[in-house]
Amino acid sequence: MSGPAAPHVLDDPLGFARVAGQHHGQLAVSAMPRLHDQLAGDAGEVKYSVRGGFDQLGRPRMELEVSGELKLLCARCAKPLDYALALRTRVLMAQPGAVPQEDDDPATPEWIEAGQELNLQVLVEDEILLGLPLSVRHAQGQCSSETPEAFGKITANSPFARLASLLEPGQTNKR
Ligand SMILES: [Zn+2]
Repeated sequence: MSGPAAPHVLDDPLGFARVAGQHHGQLAVSAMPRLHDQLAGDAGEVKYSVRGGFDQLGRPRMELEVSGELKLLCARCAKPLDYALALRTRVLMAQPGAVPQEDDDPATPEWIEAGQELNLQVLVEDEILLGLPLSVRHAQGQCSSETPEAFGKITANSPFARLASLLEPGQTNKR
């Protein structure tokens, strides 16, 4: 089973752990569609590196580092916000079907299925999704919701202004 491997697919991930392999690459943000809901744009790339090894209990694991610039949306003004991604995580690897049952203990390590190959693009996307903050805001003084102009605009388009136009007598009194 040899041949040119896809750039972001790791052949024999358990063997990769055994020999303490290392691999790194770059992924376009646009190639990770599950992130898009949380982003202000899909430009740019992230860098990742993985290292195989074992934990203290002798279980095969993968250490993953991901870094890059993402554009998130500010929770206050909904404008783009530069976010420096710097993830470092470890996942334990098990043969397909041998992943231990999940429990609610946050101290339980994360397991992934590692068969004949491991798609690093999926893994990186998963870990970014897990690692993104639930909500981000511009620093104070940099958020456009703090400017008087933006405030005036929101007021003019407020749902109450539109509601008022719906509550004209001709419409509310019809039989
Ligand atoms: Zn903002």
